[in-house]
Amino acid sequence: MRNNKTVVRLPVIDNCDGCGACCMEMRTPPFYPSPEDARWAALPAEMQQAICHHALSPLSEVPDASPCLWFDDERNQCRHYDLRPDICREFERGSASCHMWRHNTFVSLLTPEQWCAVQRDL
Ligand code: SF4
Ligand code: SF4
Repeated sequence: MRNNKTVVRLPVIDNCDGCGACCMEMRTPPFYPSPEDARWAALPAEMQQAICHHALSPLSEVPDASPCLWFDDERNQCRHYDLRPDICREFERGSASCHMWRHNTFVSLLTPEQWCAVQRDL
């Protein structure tokens, strides 16, 4: 038997252009800095050093909840998209987490009903 549950329509997201909400509190690109991480190992040494240096910066200089080192805040996109870590590739556009990032960074705002629906999916 069908119930009368309301179908919640969340904001439509066609692509990530001009968003970048999920990059806003990363501080550094989320690599595992280990030779076993093929994407990390493939980075030029100077890029690895820049990430390590940024990661070790005092929180007073680079707060924990600050945009990723690689985020271009003028174009709202990753500066090194082709080199991004696996976790950035696997993060699903349109997922509940995507919606929450977008809501939390004011890219799009959820209604209370949408917020509850997203919470159930997290
Ligand atoms: S929050 Fe979602 S839409 Fe925005 S950049 Fe991340 S995955 Fe793309
Ligand atoms: S590496 Fe690129 S895609 Fe990943 S969090 Fe940083 S800016 Fe975003």
